[in-house]
Amino acid sequence: MKRILFLIVAAITFQTQIFAQTPKFNHQDTLRGSITAERSWWDLTYYHLDIVVNPADSTINGTNTVSYKVLTSGQVMQIDLQPPMILTKAVQNGKTLNIVKDGNAHFIQLIDKQNIGATNSILLTYGGRPKVSRKPPWEGGITWKKDKNNLPFIASSCQGDGASLWWPCKDHMYDEPDSMLISVNVPANLIDVSNGRLRKTETLKNKTKTYHWFVSNPINNYGVNINIGDYVHFGEKFNGEKGVLDCDYWVLKENLEKAKVHFKQVPLMLKAFEHWFGPYPFYEDSYKLVDAPYLGMEHQSSITYGNGYQNGYLGNDQSGTGWGDTWDFIIVHESGHEWFANNVTYKDVADMWIHESFINYSESLFVEFYNGKEAGAEYVRGTRRGIRNDRPITGIYNVNYEGSGDMYPKGGNMLHTIRQILNDDAKWMDILRGLNKDFYHQVVEGAQIEKYMSQKAGIDLKPVFDQYLRDVRIPVFEYYVKDNNLTFRWNNCVPRFNMPLKIWVAGTAKNINPSTRFTTVKLDSSNPEIVVDKDYYVGVLNMMGR
Ligand SMILES: [Zn+2]
Repeated sequence: MKRILFLIVAAITFQTQIFAQTPKFNHQDTLRGSITAERSWWDLTYYHLDIVVNPADSTINGTNTVSYKVLTSGQVMQIDLQPPMILTKAVQNGKTLNIVKDGNAHFIQLIDKQNIGATNSILLTYGGRPKVSRKPPWEGGITWKKDKNNLPFIASSCQGDGASLWWPCKDHMYDEPDSMLISVNVPANLIDVSNGRLRKTETLKNKTKTYHWFVSNPINNYGVNINIGDYVHFGEKFNGEKGVLDCDYWVLKENLEKAKVHFKQVPLMLKAFEHWFGPYPFYEDSYKLVDAPYLGMEHQSSITYGNGYQNGYLGNDQSGTGWGDTWDFIIVHESGHEWFANNVTYKDVADMWIHESFINYSESLFVEFYNGKEAGAEYVRGTRRGIRNDRPITGIYNVNYEGSGDMYPKGGNMLHTIRQILNDDAKWMDILRGLNKDFYHQVVEGAQIEKYMSQKAGIDLKPVFDQYLRDVRIPVFEYYVKDNNLTFRWNNCVPRFNMPLKIWVAGTAKNINPSTRFTTVKLDSSNPEIVVDKDYYVGVLNMMGR
């Protein structure tokens, strides 16, 4: 997830109006979106988020212990928390610290000297009635709903808007804690499901229970979540590439029977994605699928689910080919993010294509795994109908600004096009698995991914990335045939665009290397029919007008 805006007409109109203008950014955007001096000197090692969630008054109150290693000298620490939540106190070594607030950023003035190399911690106390999401997961916040038995059904979702909507943290993607403990106190008749493994449950005298969930791997901020409801549990073991993976399912009582049938898709998904991408990246933390009161989100090791126990995306096939009706979009898409999003994570949301382009494309890989190569190709080509070419896929760096929703279908089709350029499926799979292995549990820049793919492919893909990620134009293959001569070039493209292309000359495949200058090649026959291979996402113009 998030933002599959092409399905939401109102949102599309809204987006188009906004992005027709150059976006304006302010001081708060920079504080949120950049690695400020008050962030860069310390490296997160551990969070212990310890909160009480009270459905009766829609409040969250508690503490977050932030442990960190001192990298360079610094005495002021930036912690983010968005109103109406209030950071009431910051304490280090028993001393209460001064907090200077600048919008959502809180600059905490540390008293004790921060020695380089030391690991320190700070205790933050906070609380309030967090923002309610009016449109989860597209808009961040807490969702307070009721199940069919009128029991509370509560969840957080915060991609884009930020985890600092509901808990105080270093709200930038570049830094992840090495591990995290999430302790959530709820009324005793409810269960909290968060990320990682349930370490213990405590029953308190005040008719509440505290659930302690431990994540033993690095986790990004928006991945951290709470899901509170009258859950029941069932599970299974998946024999995967790295051993036995615990799969745990937490669903509302009313959904148990449906879930037992529908979640049979989980091992199918795991099998397909381990094939393409390598081992599931969080065996230690298990895989979970958790009922949520909204569509779904890729919360690390606790994928949230609200697709109504049906195939497709809320029952619809995004590709229009029929292949998207054969599996549950949310189970496949959101779980796919365990590889691209949770394992390989963008450093700046401007590079969100690392998450969404690969996962749009992964949907076709799922189709391919079970239905063959042409079925997968048909699916990804089908998703082209959602492409808008309104603005670049790459957003704007250092201001928390993501690019066009084209990062889904156009990004997926860019990757599919690159696969055609390689024309070597073994190598292509090596790249997909290699990305997950060589950037294992890492936060990366888009440029690193581009460079890696070029190196592994042995082809300079930079012009291709420039074209599809940073430009809105679709390159047009312009050609004409005169007798035995085929003349062609790339037009409507970035300078030096030179993507190799496969064409069919009177039904016979031919690989050519167009550039932005006209080239002429001799053909075996006179005036044959020329067809550009449909797996390349390009425009075509016969200059003779045929
Ligand atoms: Zn997604």
